[in-house]
Amino acid sequence: MDENWQRYSRQILFQPIGLEGQKKLSNSKAVIVGMGALGTVMANHLVRSGVGFVRIIDRDLVELSNIQRQTLYDEEDAANALPKVVAAERKLNKINCSVTVEGIISDVNLDNAEELLTGFDIILDGTDNFQTRYLLNDVSVKHLIPWVHGAAVSSRGMFSVIIPGKTPCYRCLFPTVPSGLGETCDTVGVLSPLTDIIGSFQAMEAIKLLVGAETTSNLEQIDIWYNSSMQMDITHGRSPDCPTCGKGRFDFLDRSSNQQVSYTTLCGRDTVQINPRKRQIINMKEQAERLEKIGTVNGNPFLIRFKPDHDISLVLFSDGRVLVHGTDDIVKAKSYYAKYIGS
Ligand SMILES: [Zn+2]
Repeated sequence: MDENWQRYSRQILFQPIGLEGQKKLSNSKAVIVGMGALGTVMANHLVRSGVGFVRIIDRDLVELSNIQRQTLYDEEDAANALPKVVAAERKLNKINCSVTVEGIISDVNLDNAEELLTGFDIILDGTDNFQTRYLLNDVSVKHLIPWVHGAAVSSRGMFSVIIPGKTPCYRCLFPTVPSGLGETCDTVGVLSPLTDIIGSFQAMEAIKLLVGAETTSNLEQIDIWYNSSMQMDITHGRSPDCPTCGKGRFDFLDRSSNQQVSYTTLCGRDTVQINPRKRQIINMKEQAERLEKIGTVNGNPFLIRFKPDHDISLVLFSDGRVLVHGTDDIVKAKSYYAKYIGS
């Protein structure tokens, strides 16, 4: 066997993949949205399995409370407040230098979703919120790119494969955006073996799809604490009335749609994210100099952390995005933003 393929020998020996499947993997491009628990598990599997190009996208920094379940990060990454994609990219390059990993520090939103997610064979869901999942679904259906949905909270998780034109889309399965307070990692926690399992299932479905094998036709749900699982056959779940795949209306890519949100509280922390819709590039040096005059400023080449008072800190990224740590009150966060960053 060619030396290049040697590292995949145990996978090539598995007949449904074989050398032919391995070659397909090495010519494949996958994009992972969100590099939390599910994202790190999926990236680890795809890179080790030899998927030729893997783009990873995340908006956040590594924190100590991530390490319990986000398998690519360590204490040093948290101490340095590294962006997750930077820490993950370094680790993944050490694991397999023969594939390309491209890290992008960004929040996927309606302004950039089509640019960031098209041109790929598959999209993988490592997000922690419904809004982004509906957005991935819009891009998937509009551009005919399959995606693998996954979610995990507390001891319960689910996953499904969504193939435009073949399976129901996410909006067929979940017609309305859940509103109000649901259970999140923030309120009820999440278990590490669970995210490992759901992320692994997602990665496996992605690999099946990339080698041209059959994927699951189920929406699968698992409770890892009570050892129960449920498979819902979604083969005939397509809805002709679905706004997305039935009528071709992409509300989550449409600025004028009433589905849009630009202020979001983040799962797992006392944090509000503020995302200016207008695309911009911030001069980080200028911003740091400006903010140093009114509070404590530190950071690294990727972000500025600014602490105007005891309770609140603001993290500013070069694309204009701001995380307001220390509150889950959107209005309060908005006022800090207006006061110190301005828009
Ligand atoms: Zn649909």
